[in-house]
Amino acid sequence: MRIDIVSIFPQYLAPVQLSLVGRAQSDGLIDIEIHDLRDAATDRHRTVDDEPYGGGPGMVMTPEPWGVTLDRLLRPDSLLVVPTPSGRRFDQRTATAWADRRHLVFACGRYEGIDTRVMEYYRPRVDLAEVCIGDYVLAGGEAATLVMVEAVTRLLPGVVGNVQSIVDDSFADGDMESLLEGPVYTRPAKWRGMEVPSILLSGDHGSIARWRRDQAWQRTRQMRPDLPPRGGTSSGPVPD
Ligand code: SAM
Repeated sequence: MRIDIVSIFPQYLAPVQLSLVGRAQSDGLIDIEIHDLRDAATDRHRTVDDEPYGGGPGMVMTPEPWGVTLDRLLRPDSLLVVPTPSGRRFDQRTATAWADRRHLVFACGRYEGIDTRVMEYYRPRVDLAEVCIGDYVLAGGEAATLVMVEAVTRLLPGVVGNVQSIVDDSFADGDMESLLEGPVYTRPAKWRGMEVPSILLSGDHGSIARWRRDQAWQRTRQMRPDLPPRGGTSSGPVPD
């Protein structure tokens, strides 16, 4: 997969060189390039914003540098991703769908966002997704882009060593049917007087699987009652 990221703060994207995403790049599983939007500005000050038409606070990113940059980067098979609080919610299903794409281009907004005509221009020309990573407002699209790039990258074949860990994740459409993941434990078996649930030491894999699903169901109800279990048979805890 190829990913291009456009930003006025290219250094903000430095974490793509680290950890899982960095390793995926050095393993040749993904190719990420960062572009400075200001390289397409034409004036001495490399200006990329102006006052909003109609008045109001803040500045708006001008369409010209976006047009020059995106014309250069976009291909017929690209998905243009525009992070924005006013977009559709990005979730695990979105990440899964994007993991099948060959080319993602992220357009990181700042200030009050990007002149709307940029999205209107590209919508009929390439696949375009305006997405929000949560119901809060960040200062720019870079942090949102880092979130999305990591969520997509870990779903690419070969990036995560044990595929089952992706299948079992919270929100995954796998064996846990989109439930949140339940509690996890490791050594020591006793820590500060607290013991690991004995069933996990039993070696009875069927009972352990049922217990995990039951815990996942309870945690989902407790933490995210808004989250209906999708598909599968998650109508409640597994009876004993
Ligand atoms: N005035 C805009 C609004 O209320 O929708 C907020 C603009 S925000 C200060 C600047 C940029 O941060 C946005 O253009 C977008 O790129 C990014 N951003 C902020 N919050 C975001 C979120 N929850 N999801 C995705 N991107 C976000």
